[in-house]
Amino acid sequence: MRSVVVGGGFAGLLAAHVLAERGPVTLVERDPAGGARRGVPQGRHLHGLLDRGRRIAEQIHPGFTADLLAAGALTAEPLARTRWFLHGRRLHPTATGLTSVLASRPLIEDVLRHRTLAELHVGTASGVELDAGRVRGVRLADGSMLPADLVVDASGRASRLPDQLAELGVARPREDRVDVDLGYATRTYRRRPHDLGGDLNALVSTVPRSRGGGAMAVEGERWLVTLAGILGDHPPLDDAGFRAFAASLPTGPIGDLVAAAEPLDEPVPYRFRGSRHRRYDLLRCLPEGLLVLGDAVCSLNPLYAQGMTLAAQQVEALRTWDGRRTRELNRSVGRLCAAAWEIATRADLGLPEVAGSRPLPARVLDGYVTRVQRVAHADPVVARALIRVANLADPSTVLLTPPILRRVLRPGADATVAHEERVEVPA
Ligand SMILES: Cc1cc2nc3c(=O)[nH]c(=O)nc-3n(C[C@H](O)[C@H](O)[C@H](O)COP(=O)(O)OP(=O)(O)OC[C@H]3O[C@@H](n4cnc5c(N)ncnc54)[C@H](O)[C@@H]3O)c2cc1C
Repeated sequence: MRSVVVGGGFAGLLAAHVLAERGPVTLVERDPAGGARRGVPQGRHLHGLLDRGRRIAEQIHPGFTADLLAAGALTAEPLARTRWFLHGRRLHPTATGLTSVLASRPLIEDVLRHRTLAELHVGTASGVELDAGRVRGVRLADGSMLPADLVVDASGRASRLPDQLAELGVARPREDRVDVDLGYATRTYRRRPHDLGGDLNALVSTVPRSRGGGAMAVEGERWLVTLAGILGDHPPLDDAGFRAFAASLPTGPIGDLVAAAEPLDEPVPYRFRGSRHRRYDLLRCLPEGLLVLGDAVCSLNPLYAQGMTLAAQQVEALRTWDGRRTRELNRSVGRLCAAAWEIATRADLGLPEVAGSRPLPARVLDGYVTRVQRVAHADPVVARALIRVANLADPSTVLLTPPILRRVLRPGADATVAHEERVEVPA
């Protein structure tokens, strides 16, 4: 099977490597440079790789985590040496059995790029070639054609595939949307060992207010500090405004860090209008031989850090595909997207200002999840369960099992306790 993968970002790099086990693969990338690059503008901002995504990348590329560590990345347990604040209070520190990789997005990509077995074609894809209801290859902007039995669109959120299909007389996929008007601003700082009391990561959720952020220790003895505001409350880019926004977060560590550490660059912005799910899984007339992965099919509010892990889950489905009908594979991808979509958009729809439907059962469940989050301030068992679900390591139904239900619904269990101090957690 000859494959062409369009886009050498996180999804495309993993997919190209997996497909190389089945035959020749060409990876088409218009911006192949390493480091922070124009083709992936979000790459300058904090990118947490959830444990589930790291494990899948590790299965595809044994030694992936070790390569990152060798390049200066760090690892931490999500609730140890990481301070995770929800509703302005720290989740109870505890062992979770999970590993977070602390690395910049360009480093994660560089490690994957060096390991990916595919022929790189530097160029811009401009469309797909169809014949008798099947994809036959990829057209390039220079007018040439790359023939293929399988074409994978992994060209990211700005994928033009819906327009290209419409030009060929194929219907566009439906697009589900939940708009949040999120603004990010990111700056790097020199890291000193005593910063953040020796901890490596602080994450402040935008729940319950519109502002949040993260400070993550990354390669090169640096802090990557991202500030975020939803519903148009975007962080400023000037020094004083950036500091003031950091100081306005509902809890102190990020503001303190920004006030004391030495900045290494100027803040850079990113505006994210909202989550999008293009429903190729529902498109009956989708040509055979075409697969859509990564942000090109589903781009989620980055506050929940699911994007790379969702892409990895999709590539895992590709890896076990029987090689017959791509329609079935697009449906499997659609099911994975729907599960992640439910987590990300339900959280956003908790804000009354966000437009979207809120069925009654979902509202009841949202009320329960809010209580889980509050109980997790004081109860390490509930904190562990919550963080394993947030890392996509366990299904969300775990939060409804009797041992967790009993702890969450116990009267007074949500009376919150602050855990500002550093707590040692056994390995
Ligand atoms: C601000 C922000 C923060 C985020 N934070 C996180 C996080 O903490 N954790 C997480 O898991 N996810 C995060 N995400 C999501 C994550 O960035 C994406 O889910 C992930 O990059 C998806 O990878 P992809 O390969 O589908 O797309 P991309 O990584 O965007 O790659 C697309 C590639 O396609 C190439 N390309 C595009 N068009 C063409 C063309 N016509 N021809 C050839 N090449 C082309 C581009 O140059 C690029 O290399 C964040 C997103 C944003 C916006």
